[in-house]
Amino acid sequence: MPRQSLGFFPTPLVELAKLSDKLNGPKIFMKRDDNTGLALGGNKTRKLEFIMGDALKQGADTVITAGAAQSNHCRQTAGAAASLGLECHLVLGGEEPDQVQGNLLLDQIFGCHIHWAGAHRKGEDIPKIVEQLKKEGKKPYVIPYGGSNELGAIAFVEAFRELEFQRESMGVAFTHIVFASSSGATHAGLMLGDRIFGSDCQIVGINIDKGEMDQVPFDEHIVALANSTARLIDIDYQFSDSDLILNDDYVGEGYGVIGHLENEAIATLAQTEGILLDPVYTGRAMGGLLDMIRSGQIKQTDRVLFWHTGGAPALFAYANDLNVAEKR
Ligand SMILES: *Cc1c(COP(=O)(O)O)cnc(C)c1O
Repeated sequence: MPRQSLGFFPTPLVELAKLSDKLNGPKIFMKRDDNTGLALGGNKTRKLEFIMGDALKQGADTVITAGAAQSNHCRQTAGAAASLGLECHLVLGGEEPDQVQGNLLLDQIFGCHIHWAGAHRKGEDIPKIVEQLKKEGKKPYVIPYGGSNELGAIAFVEAFRELEFQRESMGVAFTHIVFASSSGATHAGLMLGDRIFGSDCQIVGINIDKGEMDQVPFDEHIVALANSTARLIDIDYQFSDSDLILNDDYVGEGYGVIGHLENEAIATLAQTEGILLDPVYTGRAMGGLLDMIRSGQIKQTDRVLFWHTGGAPALFAYANDLNVAEKR
């Protein structure tokens, strides 16, 4: 698979001993993909190494992708495209906001072209923009929503390999890997990695978004992506619904609606470990993990890895929804 280096790997694997103490809970570790090094970091850097590798191989001079106004995927795509000398088009849901903040500010600094798409927040408008770019003589390459295709999932099979080396040298075996799941390639790749490397831990995605992907319910989408990725890399394994752990308990009011769960998780991690989570993804997923520990779904004898997928640049854009007075 062609791969374009974009980030700094391996990302650190750290133990969160103070958080474990505070919860009187299990051993908790964190994979710091918020520190991938590209454009303030995040899990999309891994996917983009394979996706941009493919775009360059195909001779593209322009990339186009879609997301929410505060999309971390779009921000990392903008940074990657800038570093590779590619023109970048972003199709963002909603209307242009009065104040440019967070990821959107960074998109603009990276010099990409922004198309506001209103209610079409998952890239519905991409085909017509691609036609226009072709008419202008450009060679556009479409990056799927969230970078979630087989190449994105392969990046997380590789990430699992990276984790295996680190956890072996630390002498720890995880019972659970917990992370925010929203367009599916992180989840599909980790499921497949777990299977390939025989680590036999529970791959627990915390669902972030009530929606579906490409008109398919999200759970079916993840299983199908895991299977198509397995076929692409010649792994003879067929996943079924029962292999998937997608926890829907914490979607609350839906995508990007910040409540007590996220506020409490953000304050707890910041104030016990000095680690920043984000309001939309990791704040919600960590809120879920804290609840699963407090309610005994995850036991004191377990060993949990939380995969920090990034996103902190969005904190600034959600300043009004964050209760900064939340105390430990
Ligand atoms: C995109 C993203 C996720 C979800 O990863 P998927 O592979 O799209 O499911 C989680 N956290 C952050 C911060 C993200 O930007």
